[in-house]
Amino acid sequence: MAHRPIYLDHHATTPVDPQVLATMLPYFTEAFGNPASGGHAYGWEAEAAVEKARRQIGEAINAPPESIIFTSGATEANNLAIKGIAEAYMEKGRHIITVQTEHRAILDPCAYLASLGFRITYLSVQEDGLINLEDLAAAIRPDTILVSIMAANNEIGVVQPLAAIGKLCHQRGVIFHTDAAQALGKIPLDVEAMQIDLMSLTAHKLYGPKGIGALYVRKRNPRVNLAPQLHGGGQEGGMRSGTLYTPQIVGFGAAVILGMERLTPEAQRLAAWRDRLYAQLQPLGGITLNGHPHHRLAGNLNITIEGVDGPTLLNELQPHIALSSGSACSSHPPRPSHVLQALGRNPAEAAASLRLGLGRGTTEAEIEEAIAHLRHTITTLRQSNPSKSEQKPKG
Ligand SMILES: *Cc1c(COP(=O)(O)O)cnc(C)c1O
Repeated sequence: MAHRPIYLDHHATTPVDPQVLATMLPYFTEAFGNPASGGHAYGWEAEAAVEKARRQIGEAINAPPESIIFTSGATEANNLAIKGIAEAYMEKGRHIITVQTEHRAILDPCAYLASLGFRITYLSVQEDGLINLEDLAAAIRPDTILVSIMAANNEIGVVQPLAAIGKLCHQRGVIFHTDAAQALGKIPLDVEAMQIDLMSLTAHKLYGPKGIGALYVRKRNPRVNLAPQLHGGGQEGGMRSGTLYTPQIVGFGAAVILGMERLTPEAQRLAAWRDRLYAQLQPLGGITLNGHPHHRLAGNLNITIEGVDGPTLLNELQPHIALSSGSACSSHPPRPSHVLQALGRNPAEAAASLRLGLGRGTTEAEIEEAIAHLRHTITTLRQSNPSKSEQKPKG
Protein backbone atom coordinates (compact mmCIF):
# COMPACT_ATOMS: atom_id res chain seq x y z
CA MET A 1 0.00 0.00 0.00
CA ALA A 2 1.53 3.33 -1.03
CA HIS A 3 -0.31 5.53 1.44
CA ARG A 4 -1.48 4.05 4.72
CA PRO A 5 -4.27 5.85 6.54
CA ILE A 6 -4.05 6.04 10.34
CA TYR A 7 -5.53 2.81 11.68
CA LEU A 8 -8.29 3.59 14.17
CA ASP A 9 -10.37 0.45 13.59
CA HIS A 10 -8.98 -1.82 16.32
CA HIS A 11 -12.47 -3.13 17.16
CA ALA A 12 -12.63 -4.73 13.71
CA THR A 13 -9.29 -6.47 14.00
CA THR A 14 -5.71 -5.91 15.14
CA PRO A 15 -2.31 -6.73 13.64
CA VAL A 16 -0.50 -9.81 14.92
CA ASP A 17 2.14 -8.71 17.42
CA PRO A 18 5.64 -9.61 16.13
CA GLN A 19 6.37 -11.50 19.39
CA VAL A 20 3.21 -13.53 18.85
CA LEU A 21 4.16 -14.31 15.26
CA ALA A 22 7.62 -15.46 16.37
CA THR A 23 6.11 -18.02 18.77
CA MET A 24 3.80 -19.32 16.03
CA LEU A 25 6.30 -19.83 13.22
CA PRO A 26 7.99 -23.12 14.31
CA TYR A 27 4.58 -24.78 14.48
CA PHE A 28 4.00 -24.34 10.75
CA THR A 29 7.20 -26.14 9.78
CA GLU A 30 9.36 -28.20 12.19
CA ALA A 31 6.72 -28.74 14.90
CA PHE A 32 3.93 -29.53 12.46
CA GLY A 33 2.58 -32.65 14.18
CA ASN A 34 -1.09 -33.36 14.79
CA PRO A 35 -1.78 -32.85 18.51
CA ALA A 36 -4.07 -35.90 18.34
CA SER A 37 -1.24 -38.18 17.14
CA GLY A 38 -0.70 -39.88 20.48
CA GLY A 39 1.82 -42.44 19.27
CA HIS A 40 4.91 -40.38 18.43
CA ALA A 41 7.03 -37.35 19.26
CA TYR A 42 5.59 -35.09 16.54
CA GLY A 43 2.16 -35.40 18.07
CA TRP A 44 3.41 -35.01 21.65
CA GLU A 45 5.28 -31.83 20.76
CA ALA A 46 2.19 -30.26 19.19
CA GLU A 47 -0.01 -31.47 22.02
CA ALA A 48 2.31 -29.93 24.63
CA ALA A 49 2.13 -26.58 22.79
CA VAL A 50 -1.67 -26.70 22.61
CA GLU A 51 -1.97 -27.57 26.30
CA LYS A 52 0.37 -24.74 27.26
CA ALA A 53 -1.82 -22.26 25.36
CA ARG A 54 -4.92 -23.73 26.96
CA ARG A 55 -3.42 -23.08 30.41
CA GLN A 56 -2.41 -19.54 29.43
CA ILE A 57 -5.90 -18.69 28.20
CA GLY A 58 -7.56 -20.37 31.17
CA GLU A 59 -5.39 -18.49 33.66
CA ALA A 60 -6.29 -15.16 32.04
CA ILE A 61 -9.96 -15.71 32.93
CA ASN A 62 -9.40 -17.76 36.13
CA ALA A 63 -10.64 -20.99 34.53
CA PRO A 64 -9.15 -24.49 34.61
CA PRO A 65 -7.54 -25.46 31.28
CA GLU A 66 -9.93 -28.36 30.67
CA SER A 67 -12.83 -25.88 30.47
CA ILE A 68 -11.38 -24.18 27.35
CA ILE A 69 -12.64 -25.47 23.95
CA PHE A 70 -10.78 -24.12 20.91
CA THR A 71 -12.93 -22.84 18.04
CA SER A 72 -12.33 -20.87 14.85
CA GLY A 73 -13.20 -17.58 16.59
CA ALA A 74 -15.88 -15.84 18.59
CA THR A 75 -18.57 -16.37 15.93
CA GLU A 76 -18.20 -20.12 16.22
CA ALA A 77 -17.90 -19.94 20.01
CA ASN A 78 -21.14 -17.94 20.18
CA ASN A 79 -22.93 -20.39 17.88
CA LEU A 80 -21.66 -23.34 19.92
CA ALA A 81 -22.74 -21.71 23.18
CA ILE A 82 -26.19 -20.63 22.10
CA LYS A 83 -27.21 -23.57 19.91
CA GLY A 84 -25.36 -26.03 22.14
CA ILE A 85 -27.19 -24.86 25.27
CA ALA A 86 -30.53 -24.67 23.46
CA GLU A 87 -30.19 -28.28 22.29
CA ALA A 88 -28.94 -29.58 25.64
CA TYR A 89 -31.59 -27.84 27.79
CA MET A 90 -34.67 -27.68 25.56
CA GLU A 91 -36.51 -30.17 27.74
CA LYS A 92 -36.13 -27.74 30.64
CA GLY A 93 -37.30 -24.70 28.68
CA ARG A 94 -37.07 -22.83 25.42
CA HIS A 95 -36.64 -19.23 26.49
CA ILE A 96 -33.43 -17.25 25.97
CA ILE A 97 -32.65 -13.68 27.04
CA THR A 98 -30.20 -11.46 25.19
CA VAL A 99 -29.80 -7.75 24.42
CA GLN A 100 -30.60 -5.56 21.40
CA THR A 101 -27.01 -4.29 21.21
CA GLU A 102 -25.36 -7.70 20.85
CA HIS A 103 -23.09 -8.64 17.96
CA ARG A 104 -24.73 -10.32 14.94
CA ALA A 105 -22.97 -13.55 15.96
CA ILE A 106 -25.35 -13.61 18.95
CA LEU A 107 -28.47 -12.10 17.37
CA ASP A 108 -28.44 -14.35 14.30
CA PRO A 109 -28.11 -17.69 16.14
CA CYS A 110 -30.96 -16.47 18.40
CA ALA A 111 -33.08 -15.62 15.34
CA TYR A 112 -32.34 -19.08 13.99
CA LEU A 113 -33.48 -20.67 17.26
CA ALA A 114 -36.63 -18.53 17.15
CA SER A 115 -37.39 -20.09 13.77
CA LEU A 116 -37.24 -23.49 15.50
CA GLY A 117 -39.76 -22.41 18.15
CA PHE A 118 -37.55 -20.98 20.88
CA ARG A 119 -38.68 -17.72 22.51
CA ILE A 120 -36.14 -14.91 22.60
CA THR A 121 -36.34 -11.79 24.76
CA TYR A 122 -34.21 -8.92 23.46
CA LEU A 123 -33.63 -6.54 26.37
CA SER A 124 -33.41 -2.87 25.49
CA VAL A 125 -30.58 -0.78 26.89
CA GLN A 126 -30.54 2.55 28.70
CA GLU A 127 -29.44 5.65 26.82
CA ASP A 128 -25.87 5.00 28.00
CA GLY A 129 -25.85 1.48 26.54
CA LEU A 130 -25.94 -0.35 29.89
CA ILE A 131 -28.62 -2.93 30.55
CA ASN A 132 -31.03 -2.38 33.40
CA LEU A 133 -30.63 -5.19 35.95
CA GLU A 134 -34.25 -4.89 37.03
CA ASP A 135 -35.35 -5.48 33.43
CA LEU A 136 -33.19 -8.58 33.34
CA ALA A 137 -34.58 -9.86 36.64
CA ALA A 138 -38.12 -9.30 35.38
CA ALA A 139 -37.43 -11.09 32.09
CA ILE A 140 -36.27 -14.35 33.70
CA ARG A 141 -39.07 -16.97 33.64
CA PRO A 142 -39.31 -20.59 34.76
CA ASP A 143 -38.56 -21.73 31.20
CA THR A 144 -35.51 -19.45 30.76
CA ILE A 145 -32.46 -21.59 30.03
CA LEU A 146 -29.86 -19.00 29.00
CA VAL A 147 -28.92 -15.35 29.42
CA SER A 148 -26.38 -14.11 26.85
CA ILE A 149 -25.01 -10.60 27.46
CA MET A 150 -21.75 -9.36 25.97
CA ALA A 151 -18.86 -8.20 28.14
CA ALA A 152 -17.81 -5.17 26.06
CA ASN A 153 -19.63 -3.80 23.04
CA ASN A 154 -17.80 -3.81 19.71
CA GLU A 155 -19.27 -0.46 18.61
CA ILE A 156 -19.70 1.71 21.69
CA GLY A 157 -17.23 -0.08 23.97
CA VAL A 158 -19.74 -0.21 26.83
CA VAL A 159 -18.78 -2.72 29.53
CA GLN A 160 -21.77 -4.45 31.12
CA PRO A 161 -21.94 -5.22 34.88
CA LEU A 162 -20.88 -8.86 34.48
CA ALA A 163 -20.58 -9.75 38.17
CA ALA A 164 -24.07 -8.42 38.93
CA ILE A 165 -25.53 -10.26 35.92
CA GLY A 166 -23.75 -13.49 36.89
CA LYS A 167 -25.00 -13.25 40.47
CA LEU A 168 -28.58 -12.69 39.34
CA CYS A 169 -28.46 -15.57 36.83
CA HIS A 170 -27.08 -18.01 39.41
CA GLN A 171 -29.61 -16.93 42.04
CA ARG A 172 -32.33 -17.75 39.50
CA GLY A 173 -30.74 -20.97 38.22
CA VAL A 174 -30.11 -19.70 34.70
CA ILE A 175 -26.94 -20.26 32.64
CA PHE A 176 -24.96 -17.07 31.88
CA HIS A 177 -23.01 -16.74 28.63
CA THR A 178 -20.94 -13.69 27.72
CA ASP A 179 -19.34 -12.75 24.40
CA ALA A 180 -15.99 -11.38 25.56
CA ALA A 181 -14.41 -10.98 22.12
CA GLN A 182 -13.70 -7.28 22.75
CA ALA A 183 -12.99 -7.63 26.46
CA LEU A 184 -10.21 -10.21 26.68
CA GLY A 185 -6.93 -8.51 27.56
CA LYS A 186 -8.68 -5.11 27.79
CA ILE A 187 -10.54 -5.44 31.09
CA PRO A 188 -10.09 -7.98 33.91
CA LEU A 189 -12.23 -11.10 33.43
CA ASP A 190 -12.78 -13.74 36.12
CA VAL A 191 -15.29 -16.51 35.50
CA GLU A 192 -15.48 -17.32 39.23
CA ALA A 193 -15.84 -13.80 40.64
CA MET A 194 -18.28 -12.92 37.84
CA GLN A 195 -20.15 -16.27 37.95
CA ILE A 196 -19.85 -16.75 34.21
CA ASP A 197 -20.80 -20.18 32.80
CA LEU A 198 -19.75 -19.74 29.18
CA MET A 199 -17.46 -17.16 27.61
CA SER A 200 -16.63 -16.60 23.94
CA LEU A 201 -13.13 -15.44 23.07
CA THR A 202 -11.16 -14.60 19.93
CA ALA A 203 -7.47 -13.94 19.28
CA HIS A 204 -7.58 -11.41 16.45
CA LYS A 205 -9.01 -8.54 18.52
CA LEU A 206 -6.03 -8.96 20.85
CA TYR A 207 -3.00 -8.87 18.49
CA GLY A 208 -3.26 -12.59 17.84
CA PRO A 209 -4.02 -14.39 14.58
CA LYS A 210 -7.39 -14.55 12.86
CA GLY A 211 -9.25 -17.85 12.68
CA ILE A 212 -8.77 -18.94 16.30
CA GLY A 213 -10.91 -18.46 19.37
CA ALA A 214 -12.29 -20.40 22.30
CA LEU A 215 -15.36 -21.11 24.33
CA TYR A 216 -15.02 -21.42 28.09
CA VAL A 217 -17.55 -23.92 29.45
CA ARG A 218 -18.00 -24.26 33.23
CA LYS A 219 -17.27 -27.80 34.47
CA ARG A 220 -18.45 -27.48 38.08
CA ASN A 221 -20.66 -25.36 40.40
CA PRO A 222 -22.73 -26.00 38.30
CA ARG A 223 -21.57 -28.27 35.49
CA VAL A 224 -22.85 -26.92 32.16
CA ASN A 225 -23.90 -29.39 29.46
CA LEU A 226 -23.45 -28.54 25.82
CA ALA A 227 -24.52 -30.30 22.63
CA PRO A 228 -21.65 -30.26 20.09
CA GLN A 229 -22.35 -28.54 16.78
CA LEU A 230 -19.47 -30.08 14.81
CA HIS A 231 -19.23 -33.86 14.77
CA GLY A 232 -16.21 -35.85 13.67
CA GLY A 233 -12.92 -36.93 15.20
CA GLY A 234 -14.00 -36.18 18.75
CA GLN A 235 -11.36 -33.55 19.55
CA GLU A 236 -11.91 -31.14 22.45
CA GLY A 237 -13.72 -33.79 24.49
CA GLY A 238 -16.14 -34.35 21.63
CA MET A 239 -17.33 -30.75 21.90
CA ARG A 240 -15.62 -29.50 18.74
CA SER A 241 -14.28 -31.97 16.24
CA GLY A 242 -11.57 -31.06 13.77
CA THR A 243 -7.76 -31.12 13.81
CA LEU A 244 -6.48 -28.47 16.19
CA TYR A 245 -4.80 -25.54 14.46
CA THR A 246 -1.57 -25.62 16.47
CA PRO A 247 0.19 -22.45 15.19
CA GLN A 248 -2.93 -20.32 15.71
CA ILE A 249 -3.53 -21.81 19.16
CA VAL A 250 0.07 -21.11 20.19
CA GLY A 251 -0.32 -17.55 18.90
CA PHE A 252 -3.58 -17.12 20.80
CA GLY A 253 -1.84 -18.16 24.03
CA ALA A 254 1.07 -15.78 23.42
CA ALA A 255 -1.29 -12.92 22.57
CA VAL A 256 -3.21 -13.45 25.81
CA ILE A 257 0.00 -13.42 27.87
CA LEU A 258 1.08 -10.12 26.27
CA GLY A 259 -2.38 -8.61 26.62
CA MET A 260 -2.59 -9.46 30.32
CA GLU A 261 0.94 -8.14 31.02
CA ARG A 262 0.12 -4.81 29.40
CA LEU A 263 -3.53 -4.50 30.37
CA THR A 264 -3.31 -1.70 32.93
CA PRO A 265 -0.65 0.58 31.37
CA GLU A 266 -2.19 0.15 27.93
CA ALA A 267 -5.67 1.03 29.21
CA GLN A 268 -4.28 4.17 30.88
CA ARG A 269 -2.39 5.24 27.75
CA LEU A 270 -5.32 4.72 25.39
CA ALA A 271 -7.92 6.27 27.68
CA ALA A 272 -5.84 9.47 27.94
CA TRP A 273 -5.54 9.79 24.16
CA ARG A 274 -9.16 8.79 23.61
CA ASP A 275 -10.22 11.55 26.03
CA ARG A 276 -7.94 14.03 24.28
CA LEU A 277 -9.49 13.14 20.90
CA TYR A 278 -12.96 13.75 22.25
CA ALA A 279 -12.01 16.98 24.03
CA GLN A 280 -10.33 18.37 20.93
CA LEU A 281 -13.49 17.82 18.86
CA GLN A 282 -15.77 19.52 21.39
CA PRO A 283 -15.11 23.09 20.16
CA LEU A 284 -16.79 22.12 16.86
CA GLY A 285 -20.10 21.71 18.71
CA GLY A 286 -22.77 19.12 17.91
CA ILE A 287 -20.58 16.14 18.82
CA THR A 288 -22.33 13.62 21.08
CA LEU A 289 -20.75 10.66 22.85
CA ASN A 290 -22.45 7.30 22.30
CA GLY A 291 -22.30 4.96 25.27
CA HIS A 292 -21.44 5.36 28.93
CA PRO A 293 -18.64 7.89 29.63
CA HIS A 294 -16.80 5.62 32.11
CA HIS A 295 -18.07 2.05 31.77
CA ARG A 296 -16.38 1.62 28.41
CA LEU A 297 -13.23 0.20 26.82
CA ALA A 298 -10.21 2.50 27.11
CA GLY A 299 -9.54 2.50 23.36
CA ASN A 300 -13.12 3.23 22.28
CA LEU A 301 -14.68 6.52 21.25
CA ASN A 302 -18.03 6.52 19.44
CA ILE A 303 -19.53 9.87 18.48
CA THR A 304 -22.48 11.19 16.52
CA ILE A 305 -21.76 14.30 14.47
CA GLU A 306 -24.55 16.78 13.83
CA GLY A 307 -24.93 18.50 10.50
CA VAL A 308 -23.05 16.08 8.27
CA ASP A 309 -24.10 13.31 5.93
CA GLY A 310 -22.70 10.05 7.29
CA PRO A 311 -21.61 8.32 4.06
CA THR A 312 -20.00 11.58 2.78
CA LEU A 313 -18.10 11.99 6.06
CA LEU A 314 -16.76 8.43 5.94
CA ASN A 315 -15.81 8.85 2.31
CA GLU A 316 -13.90 12.06 2.99
CA LEU A 317 -12.07 10.61 5.99
CA GLN A 318 -11.23 7.29 4.40
CA PRO A 319 -7.93 8.33 2.70
CA HIS A 320 -6.63 9.68 6.03
CA ILE A 321 -8.14 7.59 8.80
CA ALA A 322 -9.23 3.93 8.67
CA LEU A 323 -12.36 3.74 10.79
CA SER A 324 -16.01 2.82 10.47
CA SER A 325 -19.41 4.06 11.50
CA GLY A 326 -20.34 0.81 13.19
CA SER A 327 -19.26 -2.80 13.16
CA ALA A 328 -17.19 -4.23 10.33
CA CYS A 329 -20.13 -5.15 8.21
CA SER A 330 -20.53 -7.36 5.18
CA SER A 331 -23.75 -5.73 4.00
CA HIS A 332 -23.70 -3.31 1.05
CA PRO A 333 -24.72 -0.58 1.36
CA PRO A 334 -23.91 -0.68 5.10
CA ARG A 335 -27.01 -0.53 7.28
CA PRO A 336 -27.08 2.11 10.02
CA SER A 337 -25.91 0.54 13.27
CA HIS A 338 -28.53 -1.42 15.23
CA VAL A 339 -26.49 -0.64 18.35
CA LEU A 340 -26.75 3.14 17.96
CA GLN A 341 -30.44 2.84 17.11
CA ALA A 342 -30.94 0.87 20.34
CA LEU A 343 -29.48 3.90 22.16
CA GLY A 344 -32.16 6.07 20.56
CA ARG A 345 -30.30 7.49 17.54
CA ASN A 346 -32.35 7.68 14.35
CA PRO A 347 -30.94 6.01 11.19
CA ALA A 348 -29.45 9.28 9.84
CA GLU A 349 -27.76 10.03 13.17
CA ALA A 350 -26.49 6.46 13.37
CA ALA A 351 -25.01 6.82 9.89
CA ALA A 352 -23.37 10.14 10.87
CA SER A 353 -21.45 8.42 13.67
CA LEU A 354 -17.84 7.38 13.95
CA ARG A 355 -16.35 4.49 15.86
CA LEU A 356 -12.74 5.32 16.71
CA GLY A 357 -10.79 2.35 18.00
CA LEU A 358 -7.32 3.03 19.39
CA GLY A 359 -4.86 0.20 19.90
CA ARG A 360 -1.36 -0.99 20.66
CA GLY A 361 0.19 0.55 17.55
CA THR A 362 -1.50 3.93 17.94
CA THR A 363 0.94 6.81 18.52
CA GLU A 364 0.47 10.25 19.99
CA ALA A 365 1.44 11.78 16.62
CA GLU A 366 -1.34 9.80 14.94
CA ILE A 367 -3.87 11.08 17.45
CA GLU A 368 -2.84 14.68 16.72
CA GLU A 369 -3.07 14.03 12.98
CA ALA A 370 -6.46 12.37 13.34
CA ILE A 371 -7.77 15.34 15.33
CA ALA A 372 -6.65 17.72 12.57
CA HIS A 373 -8.28 15.61 9.83
CA LEU A 374 -11.52 15.24 11.76
CA ARG A 375 -11.77 18.95 12.56
CA HIS A 376 -11.03 19.95 9.00
CA THR A 377 -13.40 17.44 7.40
CA ILE A 378 -16.33 18.08 9.73
CA THR A 379 -15.96 21.88 9.39
CA THR A 380 -15.74 21.69 5.60
CA LEU A 381 -18.77 19.41 5.27
CA ARG A 382 -20.87 21.60 7.56
CA GLN A 383 -19.97 24.72 5.56
CA SER A 384 -21.03 23.04 2.32
CA ASN A 385 -24.29 21.96 3.93
CA PRO A 386 -25.52 25.00 5.90
CA SER A 387 -29.13 23.87 6.30
CA LYS A 388 -28.06 20.73 8.12
CA SER A 389 -25.58 22.49 10.38
CA GLU A 390 -28.33 24.76 11.65
CA GLN A 391 -30.04 21.79 13.27
CA LYS A 392 -30.05 22.05 17.02
CA PRO A 393 -27.85 19.51 18.78
CA LYS A 394 -30.02 16.87 20.39
CA GLY A 395 -30.49 16.70 24.17
C1 LIG B 1 -15.30 -9.59 16.45
C2 LIG B 1 -16.43 -10.01 17.30
C3 LIG B 1 -17.05 -11.24 17.12
C4 LIG B 1 -16.67 -12.17 16.00
O1 LIG B 1 -15.43 -12.76 16.28
P1 LIG B 1 -14.68 -13.62 15.16
O2 LIG B 1 -13.56 -14.23 15.91
O3 LIG B 1 -14.25 -12.64 14.12
O4 LIG B 1 -15.64 -14.63 14.64
C5 LIG B 1 -18.10 -11.56 17.96
N1 LIG B 1 -18.49 -10.75 18.94
C6 LIG B 1 -17.91 -9.56 19.15
C7 LIG B 1 -18.38 -8.69 20.26
C8 LIG B 1 -16.86 -9.15 18.33
O5 LIG B 1 -16.31 -7.96 18.54
